[in-house]
Amino acid sequence: MAEITTPEEKSLNFLEEIIEEDLKSGRYKTIATRFPPEPNGYLHIGHASSICLNFGLTKKYPGYTNLRFDDTNPVTEETEYVESIKDDIRWLGFEWKNELYASDYFDQMYEFAITLIKKGLAYVDDSTSEQIAAMKGTPTEPGKDSPFRTRSIEENLDLFARMKNGEFADGTRTLRAKIDMSNANMLMRDPVLYRIKHAHHHRTGDKWCIYPMYDMAHGQSDSIEHITHSICTLEFVPHRELYDWLIEKLEIYPSHQYEFARRNINYTVTSKRKLLQLVNDKFVTGWDDPRMPTISGLRRAGYTPESIREFCDRIGIAKRENMIDVSLLEFCVREHLNKIALRRMVVFDPVKVVLTNYPADGAVEMVKSEDNPEDPNTAHREIPFSRELYIEREDFMENPPKKFFRLAPGQMVRLKSAYIIKCDEVVKDSNGKITELHCSYLPESKSGADTSGIHVKGTLHWVSVAQAISIEVRLYDRLFRVENPASEEGDFKDYINPNSLQVISTAFAEPALKNMRFNDRCQFLRKGYFCLDKDTSEDKMIFNRTVTLKDTWAKEVKKG
Ligand code: ATP
Ligand code: MG
Repeated sequence: MAEITTPEEKSLNFLEEIIEEDLKSGRYKTIATRFPPEPNGYLHIGHASSICLNFGLTKKYPGYTNLRFDDTNPVTEETEYVESIKDDIRWLGFEWKNELYASDYFDQMYEFAITLIKKGLAYVDDSTSEQIAAMKGTPTEPGKDSPFRTRSIEENLDLFARMKNGEFADGTRTLRAKIDMSNANMLMRDPVLYRIKHAHHHRTGDKWCIYPMYDMAHGQSDSIEHITHSICTLEFVPHRELYDWLIEKLEIYPSHQYEFARRNINYTVTSKRKLLQLVNDKFVTGWDDPRMPTISGLRRAGYTPESIREFCDRIGIAKRENMIDVSLLEFCVREHLNKIALRRMVVFDPVKVVLTNYPADGAVEMVKSEDNPEDPNTAHREIPFSRELYIEREDFMENPPKKFFRLAPGQMVRLKSAYIIKCDEVVKDSNGKITELHCSYLPESKSGADTSGIHVKGTLHWVSVAQAISIEVRLYDRLFRVENPASEEGDFKDYINPNSLQVISTAFAEPALKNMRFNDRCQFLRKGYFCLDKDTSEDKMIFNRTVTLKDTWAKEVKKG
């Protein structure tokens, strides 16, 4: 189980320390951060951590956060993703200052490239990517200079302009920085800055056929926007030297890069590329399938923004990669839903109870029950109670073991918010299947006015047959069978949990559930927390289980 600390106990994280120092020393009066997604998929829970970090810092300190789409790769990007990313950030509760696109800076970046060429710091290389790789050397051996490295500035300017004008085919030439082929940092060995790609871009259309590489685009975009603290994940540590080199040589606004550890959660994958495979290969119904670790999937499953922010806050930020236990995320949503969810009764697998001593004239009485005992302002709802009820089939046992406190022949239980009942007779069909339980109720045991003097250990949820509504319930389990599918041998998709979705197409609910709306959350007593799914229609209400009431996996592990 992941360590749980309460937010009050936490000291400043290392970025807050840096920023407080920067503000104290007067280095900055205000700060600027950015969240820079590549629009090549939907955001996932790892991104939520980066969003909470970047936007959280400028909520805490004076300054602002930009949303910048890092759309320098024309092939994988789509407008659908841009829209979903904006929706998700807003839903999480954050608002950006400016909505920006790296592609808006393509002209400026082209000018930066010209500046480097003119300074003798970049050259056009006719080598293929294989040849460039072969000349790179190894971490212990220096690389070799490209034969094109000594081209004149004029020739480079001419060739780069012709690259831009579309005279050359994809992959035939690149623009490279002229740094040092024996640098200990492999990324400083004349990195490629521009490549030729005759591809349509979601914003710039067919204007460009050369596109800047990540290193040529990211720091420059930060600089153009005067980002003070450019926060990225640890794999970019070796890029920082190049980030600084480009800014220094171009003599532009000095943004600074800081790195924190990527957040990975167990029993899932957090990589847009892998999530896209799950969608394309139909292992899930879409990016917002409730089993997906995407923000839209979590939202559809019934997670609240508060619970995701709380989770990100609790895991904090670190400088070392580690795997976060998904049960911490579940813990956070359970805590929040416990406070806000309306309590309702739903029977998944019914068996009929007939109260033989209750009036047989169709009488219905209303019993009162709290909407949420955790909420002092809670209302009460009225639930119809009558002679014929449904209880959960598994709440009855004909030959119960010793500590079975639910219903059994001759045994008593309380029906939640109603009466104590006793089972007198079991009715079966010709196959031996139980069809009805004939019980008697204790009229003097009504909840709130109980004078029976009888104490029973078990309380069951129930619904009245005549007023019950039929609903569909979807129960989800973890999408993968193993903790870290991406690190297993073979394809990560081989480790999918085949039982991650269980559909109960006719569950019976108390009538109050009819009033549920899309943003409402409820607890089905003893079953977990639920929300309405978007597949709901006029004919059928469909509910997703967000999370069970207890951590059922912890139990599994203990059982071994
Ligand atoms: P993916 O592999 O899922 O595509 P990415 O890093 O390529 O991830 P980007 O769209 O480039 O995705 O990420 C936008 C921002 O979110 C970056 O600053 C990145 O560092 C951050 N980010 C992405 N994944 C995680 C994660 N698992 N934990 C923390 N931050 C992340
Ligand atoms: Mg990326």
